[in-house]
Amino acid sequence: MKIFNTMSRRKEELEPIIPGQVSVYVCGPTVYNYFHIGNARPFVVFDVLRRHLISQGYKVKYVQNFTDIDDKMIRRANEEGITIGELADRFIQAYKEDSAKLGVTPADVHPRATEHIGQIIGLVKKLVDKGAAYESRGDVYFDTAAFPRYGCLCGQNLEELENGARIEIDERKRSPMDFTLWKAQKPGEPAWKSPWGMGRPGWHIECSAMSMHHLGKRFDIHCGGQDLVFPHHENEIAQSEAATGFPVVKYWMHNGFLNIDNQKMSKSAGNFFTVRDILNEFNAESVRLFLLSAHYRSPLNFSREQIQQADATLKRLYEARDRALFLNSHADGAASSAEELAEIAAARQKFTDAMNDDMNTADALSAVFDLVYTLNVSIEKNPTRESLAAWLSAFSFCCGILGVVTKEPDAVPDEVQRLLDERASARKERRFADSDRLRDAMKALGYAVEDTPNGQKVKPI
Ligand code: AMP
Ligand code: ZN
Repeated sequence: MKIFNTMSRRKEELEPIIPGQVSVYVCGPTVYNYFHIGNARPFVVFDVLRRHLISQGYKVKYVQNFTDIDDKMIRRANEEGITIGELADRFIQAYKEDSAKLGVTPADVHPRATEHIGQIIGLVKKLVDKGAAYESRGDVYFDTAAFPRYGCLCGQNLEELENGARIEIDERKRSPMDFTLWKAQKPGEPAWKSPWGMGRPGWHIECSAMSMHHLGKRFDIHCGGQDLVFPHHENEIAQSEAATGFPVVKYWMHNGFLNIDNQKMSKSAGNFFTVRDILNEFNAESVRLFLLSAHYRSPLNFSREQIQQADATLKRLYEARDRALFLNSHADGAASSAEELAEIAAARQKFTDAMNDDMNTADALSAVFDLVYTLNVSIEKNPTRESLAAWLSAFSFCCGILGVVTKEPDAVPDEVQRLLDERASARKERRFADSDRLRDAMKALGYAVEDTPNGQKVKPI
């Protein structure tokens, strides 16, 4: 598989550190609120990455954190008169419910920052001992001047970054680019005991500490939204590498923004829709398909029309699957056409090739439509069980990676099945008035019957 590595700005062949195993860390949500549809993009696209890697035979260890301590958490908990722990519990539960509806598989580990304070303090202490960080009035800062590679991920050096930054006068720091590793406690804030007094971790250090704790000092892929390249991931690189002395992450993957009116959807701008609200309006698989409709690095514009389009696409996929299932249960078992089997295999290969090309879900989806086309063509030729089985296997393989068309077909109620059997006999005996009466009876129960060369096909109205 080729992956676009933000560090080298080119596609690179995935060569895991330990052959056959891939370790992945994804920056997860800050749990002070419901997550929005923009946040959902990385959760869904990297869930697809994980499914694809597993389908290619890799053993994947997947870690996605919860940021459960920061200024926003403290403010919101104070507003509500509850602890940050209670606030986090509430929104972690909400994350689990909403992400499950979107078909996002839970990570192998969902570490919480407040449960890794020991590891965080250990890492900060190591940086201070190595001369890469310094204490100043109970705060601890990373000394960017002590890390010559600073700026390697965003492609700017320290001087350029300093020139481009809004310089805030802060006499506690040696350089304006230095960033907080540990913050001294302010009144009313939760705090932990540390060698620098009571305080709490800064944001960036938690991901360095938790990723290395759960995945080791060298791991394969680190993911997140594009907004995290600078400063969050740049700072993670500085902290982790200054501590270990070597690059910790091999591949950096960043998803593009979900925009609304060409502006990044964000909580701070207020232009967001929570996934919870969107799922009251739309089917969750349609929302997931919408999020996968563009390449993960491209910007994606949010609109209700786009989700409606995804909804229509999804319906076509379900119809094709149900048709294939129906035909499969009525197929006559005649010899299969080699040509049909070859077309199915080609579409399946096209899907895998697209996914192997830096996870091109848009092209992968077009391969799924090649499959639908193959089915429609073969229907004319009375497909055989063998080709239908191959089709169903290819279709469920592709949809399983995208995480759509996962719902089993609705079972026909016993009463409808009885009417269907009765109608089959009526038609055989050419009792057409009875047949029409039975069709109406099924309609009254909410089922439409279609007569096909393979027999009666029933579906909910
Ligand atoms: P946050 O809870 O803000 O820390 O964000 C969680 C994840 O969502 C991070 O990986 C962000 O980069 C990502 N993210 C936030 N806003 C957007 C957006 N509008 N489009 C795509 N990804 C986003
Ligand atoms: Zn992070």
